[in-house]
Order: sequence, then structure tokens, then C-alpha cells
Amino acid sequence: MADTESYAIAWLPGDGIGPEVTREALRVLEAVASTYGFAVAAEEHLMGGAALDETGTPFPDTTRDACLESNAVLLGAVGGPTWDDTTGDRRPESGLLALRKALGVYANLRPVIVPEALATASPLRPDRVGGTDILFVRELTGGIYFGTPEGPTEDGARSTMEYSGSEIERIAHVAFRRAQRRDGHVTSVDKANVLEVSELWRAVVTEVHDAHYSDVDLRHLYVDNAAMQVVRDPQQFDVVLTGNLFGDILSDLAAALPGSLGLLPSASVGGDVGLFEPVHGSAPDIAGQDVANPIGTILSAALLLDELGEPEAADAVRHGVDAALDAGFLTADLAEANEEAVSTSTFGREVANRAADHAPQNVPTL
Ligand code: NAD
Repeated sequence: MADTESYAIAWLPGDGIGPEVTREALRVLEAVASTYGFAVAAEEHLMGGAALDETGTPFPDTTRDACLESNAVLLGAVGGPTWDDTTGDRRPESGLLALRKALGVYANLRPVIVPEALATASPLRPDRVGGTDILFVRELTGGIYFGTPEGPTEDGARSTMEYSGSEIERIAHVAFRRAQRRDGHVTSVDKANVLEVSELWRAVVTEVHDAHYSDVDLRHLYVDNAAMQVVRDPQQFDVVLTGNLFGDILSDLAAALPGSLGLLPSASVGGDVGLFEPVHGSAPDIAGQDVANPIGTILSAALLLDELGEPEAADAVRHGVDAALDAGFLTADLAEANEEAVSTSTFGREVANRAADHAPQNVPTL
């Protein structure tokens, strides 16, 4: 009999609610592992403010080495009022940038899903958002955040948006491959009517599409129109491919659709080891109370399983979340005034049980 595959997970709980929500994601991972015939070995490491307090740096070398040696990194969140006065590379958030850099992750994946059970929590009309399922594919290591800045001085300041053809090409492949496993539509977002760098973006994306992905539909939208469409009719989108700046803004705009930040997962991939973390921060206002919503982190664990080549187990995790919601389990951020809220750990257990009971469904790998 073949040995059971065992995945080494670098577990970085971080600060605030990070430890609470990542604990539940690990619980769910362990639950599906036994059903789906693999093992997870999670090893805890310091990150963010917690690491700064203990070691004097938010991203210690021991954490970096452990991440690079792992199969995947599961992160909670970093930062909080305790460390608001820190500056430069002592800021917990600077540790996060250093982590992304060390892993060489250039593709940020952010699914925005509005489960039918939660459509009433959205600030938009439930019939407009219910069933929304968008995957944002954002380029993470280029564009204006990494151009050559000048100033600010009295005379002014300059930031430059730069992309090479190869940077655009590799992120385009990520988006088209994801679309092949989903509904087969990619919307590429740029500002090609004004920016030269967007002209190149549009040309390269079209080239990659025409050469390799005739089974995927491609359309281009200007970013201003895309922002309007995300709010007006989010159900029209499948995969949205875009650069660093536009992706930052559009994915946060779309993050408002489900009605709670606690629902949203993310993955940063492209290097040898991927990074999986919820979109939200450390939520110091509710930390340590066992009330945070762990769904964003649990769904990040589903993305982690996709990336490790365990798509059936990933689907079981998503099924577990939907089934727990359908059964009426809601954390405080989702419960209406007349509904009873369950704790972070209760919700995690309810998901884990349902995910583990979900029989293998034969889902294609990425
Ligand atoms: P935040 O995301 O931590 O919280 C914003 C609001 O959303 C708060 O009211 C919070 O209670 C609520 N919220 C967030 N996650 C929730 C969850 N899972 N369940 C229920 N409610 C949830 O953003 P903030 O308050 O602007 O930032 C707090 C700290 O987190 C800051 O130090 C910031 O720098 C840091 N931060 C870290 C990351 C990261 O680690 N990736 C991202 C954003 C902010």
C-alpha cells in the first residue's frame, strides 16, 4: 500500500483573532484529511506583532525558513493597536510583505462568493447578489506599487506603473487556467484608453488567450466600467484578471458584497510554496472572545487544498461551510437581531463534521 501523503503546513496564527480563526481552519483540514486519505502536519511559527514582542522582528528567520520548507503557509492576520507606534521594518505589516517576497508569490486569488443563505446580509438587493461567485486574479508583485518612485518633494512626486510582457503573460495563464475549471469566462480589466501600460496588458492577455485558451471566453473592460458593473450586476462575472492597483481596489469593492469581511478567503501563489490567509485583519475589537467568523480562513484552507492537488477535499470544505450555514449556524457578524449566534469554535466544529462526512465527488485538478 502506498504511503499516505503528508502535507507540512507552516501555521502562522499572528495577532488578534488570527489564532482563533486559523485554529478552526486547521480543525477542518484535519477532519477532511482522514476522509480523503492524506495527513496534515501543522507546525506553529511566530509572525507579526507576536513575533516582534518575542524576537524583535515581525518575520523571524526561523519563520521564513519553516515557510520555505513547508508545502503551504496558513496565516491568520497581523497587527493591532499594541504595535501602532512601530515604524519601518518593525511594523507587523512589513513582515507580511517580507513573507510574500520570500515566497515569490505573484498571483493573488480572491474568490468573492455570496451564498444564497447569506444574500440578505449584503448591502445590495439579495436578488442582485445571491449566488455571486467571482474569482479575482490580481497581479501581486508588479505595477505601480513596485515602480520607481520619486519624492515627495516641494516640486511634486511620481509613481510609475510598469509591467513587462512576461509579468502579464504569467498572470494571464493563471486566470485562464482557473476559468477552465470554473465557468470558462475571463474579464480582463485595464485602462487601455488612457495608459500605455494597459495597452500592453490588453495585447498580451489577448495573445495568451488566442494562442492557448480557445475554450475560454475573454472580454476586456475598462476599470471604471468594471467597478460599476461589480456593484450593478456582480453575477455576470466569473474570473476577473487585473493588475496590482486595479485588483487591490476592485477586490475590496467586491468584498463588500457578502456583507461581512469575515467571509473572504485569499491565496497568493506562483512560487514554490503558497500563502493562504483570510482577507480581513486582526480585528482587535473582538479578539480573544471566540466570536470571530472563521469562514474566510476555512475557505482559505480550501484554496490551500486546491493548490496541493486535493480538489475533492477542497470541495468537501466548501460543502461543509455551505451546509453549516444552511443548517442555520451563524457567527455574530452574520446573525440578525432575532437569530442566535454561535461561537468561532462551534462554527468550526459544525463545518468540520459536515466536511468530513462529505463523500468524494471526483473533482478535476487545477
Ligand atoms: P479588520 O479587518 O481587522 O477589522 C475591520 C472590522 O471587521 C472590525 O470591526 C472587525 O471586528 C471586523 N472583522 C474583521 N474580521 C472579522 C471576522 N473574521 N469576523 C467578524 N468580524 C470581523 O481591519 P482593521 O480594523 O482596519 O485593522 C485591524 C488591524 O489589522 C490593523 O493593525 C491592521 O493593520 C491589521 N490588518 C492586517 C491585515 C493582514 O494581516 N492581512 C489586513 C488588514 C488589516
